[in-house]
Amino acid sequence: MTSPNQHADVVIVGTGHGGAQAAIALRQHGYEGSILMIGRDDAPPYERPPLSKEYLAGEKGFERIMIRPEKFWAEKGIDLKLGAAVTAIDPHAHRLTLSDGSQVAYCKLIWSGGGDPRRLPVPGAVLPQVFYVRDKSDADAMMAALADGPKRVLVVGGGYIGLEAAAVLRKLGCEVVLVEMLPRLLARVAGEEISAFYAAEHRRQGVDVRLNTGIQAVLGEDQGKVTGARLDNGTQVACDMVVVGIGIVPAVGPLIAAGAAGSNGVDVDFCCRTTLDDIYAIGDCAAHANPYADNAVIRLESVQNAHDMANTVAKAIMGHKEPYNALPWFWSNQYDLKLQTAGLNLGYDQTVLRGDPSERKFTLVYLKNGVPIAFDCVGTMRDYVQARKLLESGVGRIDPALLADPQVALKDLI
Ligand code: FAD
Repeated sequence: MTSPNQHADVVIVGTGHGGAQAAIALRQHGYEGSILMIGRDDAPPYERPPLSKEYLAGEKGFERIMIRPEKFWAEKGIDLKLGAAVTAIDPHAHRLTLSDGSQVAYCKLIWSGGGDPRRLPVPGAVLPQVFYVRDKSDADAMMAALADGPKRVLVVGGGYIGLEAAAVLRKLGCEVVLVEMLPRLLARVAGEEISAFYAAEHRRQGVDVRLNTGIQAVLGEDQGKVTGARLDNGTQVACDMVVVGIGIVPAVGPLIAAGAAGSNGVDVDFCCRTTLDDIYAIGDCAAHANPYADNAVIRLESVQNAHDMANTVAKAIMGHKEPYNALPWFWSNQYDLKLQTAGLNLGYDQTVLRGDPSERKFTLVYLKNGVPIAFDCVGTMRDYVQARKLLESGVGRIDPALLADPQVALKDLI
C-alpha cells in the first residue's frame, strides 16, 4: 500500500459555510492539531446566500462575501487545498483519495459537502445558457451572460433560489417568466398566505408567474443558443437564458460508498457523528433528528444549520459532547422585502396572520395542536427577534387571538 501524500489531524471536506465554521470553531475552542480543508471550489471560503442576492446583482464584490479575509486561514494554521474533490474514503485506513490521485490521511474527518443542484431533466437542458445557482462560478457565468444587457429569462422553480434570482433579474431590467410546477410558490416551505403574498409581489414587480406549470424542453438554435422553452401545457416561451432552482441533491457519494448509513444525505447522531468511526457530517447533507421538528429526521438547508452543526462537532472533537439543538432560522431577501423565519413549520395544522400583508409588513404564525412552532416574519424584525425567544423558551398553547393582535408583543406571551 502506498503511503498518503499528506496527513492532518482533522480533515474537513467542503469549504462552504459548514466546513469553514468547523475550522474556525476548532481554533476558537483551542484545538492545536493540524487542520486541512479540502474543497472542490477554486475560490477561498465564501458565503453562498449573496449568490442569488447582492453578488448576483453586482452590489457586493467577492471580497465582501468571503467568510474570512484570505490571510486568515494561514494565520490560524488552517491549510486549504482548493480545486480538489474527494472521490473516495477508506474508513478503516482513515484515508481519502482526491481527484488529482493524491491521498490524504486523517484522524478525524468532518464532511460538509453541501449539495449539487438538481439538474433539469429535459431535452435541451445542457445548452450553455441554462444556469444553476449554487457556486460562485455559477453566479459568475450568469453575470457574464448578462454583461451585454438585460435578457429574456425563464426561471424554473418557485422556491427561495428561483424567487431571489427572479427579483435580481428584474432589478437588472430582464424580462422574467417564472414557472412553478406546484399550485403555489414556496409550497414546500411556507404557508399559503406567504405563497400568495410573494406571488402578488413578484407579479407587481413585473414577473410573469405561472403556477401549475412545468417545462418539457429547452429549445435552441443549431449553434446551441437558447431561443425558448416548451412548457408542459403545450405553450412556448421565448427566452435567451434559463435559470434553474429546483433543489439540491446532497453531495455524499464517497461517504455512502464507504458504507455510511443514509438515504437522504448521510445519517448523523445527536453530535453529528456518522455511522463510520471518526467521521462527522454537517450542514445541508446531514440528516439528523431535530428537536424543533419533534425529533423527525430531516435535512436543513440553511446557514444557521451548517454553522451550528459545525460548532457542535468542534466541541465534540474537543471532548464536549453537547447535543445539537439549535433553533432553526432562515432569511430570504426579495426586492426590498426581508423575510425572516424562526422555527420549523413541519406538521403545522393552523396558521395565524399577524398584521396586514397589504402593508408589506406581517407575520405568519404556524401552530401545531395550539402550540406555535414557527414564525415567518415579513418586514417585522421585532416579531422575529421575540419569536426566537418564544420558541427557545419551550412555549405551550397560546390563544390565537393574542397571536393575531400585532399590539400584543410576542415577548409578553412567553
Ligand atoms: P456548502 O456551503 O454548499 O459547502 C459545500 C462545499 O463542499 C462546496 O464548496 C462544495 O463544492 C464542496 N464539496 C462537495 N463535495 C465535495 C467533495 N467530494 N470534495 C471536495 N469538496 C466537496 N441559507 C440561508 O440560511 N439563508 C439564505 O438566504 C440562503 N440563500 C442561499 C442562496 C443560494 C444561491 C444558495 C446556493 C444557498 C443559500 N442558502 C441560504 C443555503 C446555504 O447557503 C446553505 O445551507 C449552506 O451553504 C450550507 O453549508 P454547507 O457547508 O452544508 O454546504
